[in-house]
Amino acid sequence: MSSAGAALDPAPRDAADPLAAYRDRFVGAETPLVYFDGNSLGRPLKVTGPRIAEFVEREWGGRLIRGWDERWFDLPRTLGDRLGEVCLGAAPGQVAIGDSTTVLLYKLMRAAVEAQEQAGAGRTEIVLDRDQFPTDRYVAGGVARETGLTLRWIEVDTSAGVTAEQLAEVVGPQTALVVLNHVAYRSAWLADVPALTRIVHDAGALVLWDLCHSAAVVPVELDAWEVDLAVGCTYKYLNGGPGSPAFLYVAERLQTGLTQPIQGWMGADDPFLMGPSYIPATGIRRFLSGTPSIVGMLALEDMVDLVAEAGLDAVRRKSVALTEHAVEVSGELLAPLGVVLASPLDPERRGGHVTLNHPLMREATAALWERDVIPDYRDPHGLRIGLSPLSTSYAEVTAGLESVREVLAELAS
Ligand SMILES: *Cc1c(COP(=O)(O)O)cnc(C)c1O
Repeated sequence: MSSAGAALDPAPRDAADPLAAYRDRFVGAETPLVYFDGNSLGRPLKVTGPRIAEFVEREWGGRLIRGWDERWFDLPRTLGDRLGEVCLGAAPGQVAIGDSTTVLLYKLMRAAVEAQEQAGAGRTEIVLDRDQFPTDRYVAGGVARETGLTLRWIEVDTSAGVTAEQLAEVVGPQTALVVLNHVAYRSAWLADVPALTRIVHDAGALVLWDLCHSAAVVPVELDAWEVDLAVGCTYKYLNGGPGSPAFLYVAERLQTGLTQPIQGWMGADDPFLMGPSYIPATGIRRFLSGTPSIVGMLALEDMVDLVAEAGLDAVRRKSVALTEHAVEVSGELLAPLGVVLASPLDPERRGGHVTLNHPLMREATAALWERDVIPDYRDPHGLRIGLSPLSTSYAEVTAGLESVREVLAELAS
């Protein structure tokens, strides 16, 4: 067998995978279903079902409202600290869990823009790129409308993402805030966060990073990279379950200078004083608004523990190996059918998924779902292969790409 052909046999790769045993910790991993969407909704952990049942029985059912004082009230911050330590390179007191990513984007964009207004330097622009996740672009549009600022767009290659050169061209004394995605949801382009953050700071602006597609799969060092603000969701590589609450990061040095617009009682200095007007809490709690979703954090807690056990660097090594495997196998099986890679070839510039383009991918996705092979589809013509490292095997990747070949061959005939 040629060395290229060897990629088609995943068995040696699974046998040599130090993280292979983690797959058994996930619900459904023993079935032949191929799951290529752990980057959209991670599989549940087997421990999570019993743990939620126990929560209902003991904590909610047994402790009742006392649960707030005993654990729940602080959970957005204690779990935030743990997530910060395990996945985000953030020292305690800078991460909190709550709301959705969309709502947190609004709160932090609005707070950043207002702080820039108060600084009085006449900064009038929010910079972002055309291919970032729609909610980021839409929220920025709403914030611009409310505040009278202008959006300044960076045009990007949809198979790649924002480079330092592109960013340096558009930022300047007019820039208030730059909003960027760490891993591009379409191409998996992995932005150079420290380099881009430095460019933003040199222009005197603030930066907000969206980590939805990198949290728990790509190591992040928010403190060391001197990031200002970040948000991310917890239902993708953090397996928190459908609609589990998001997280935010605000660097400690900025916290007292920022005031967010959804002034709810849970972010007030003394929530139980029930006072006549809002005084923001000191510290990260001022970025919270209403009663946190405790049930929504339980599965996330389990996954943060699992990532801590496996080690995020090991998770990233397997992620790179899995995407390399997918690139090799698709090169062999799918390139002859006209499929092209729409993700960076360099694994250093690639996150945890791979996008494969072909004019028939929309139809192919529907046919694959019927066969229990679950990727997702993104325009234009992109099949997204999301490879959650702790729940995905090399054999699963090969089997799934073989199905893609069969389906495309049928559709083309
Ligand atoms: C998934 C994703 C979101 C989702 O936002 P929600 O408020 O959870 O719907 C936002 N931004 C990016 C970059 C994403 O990948």
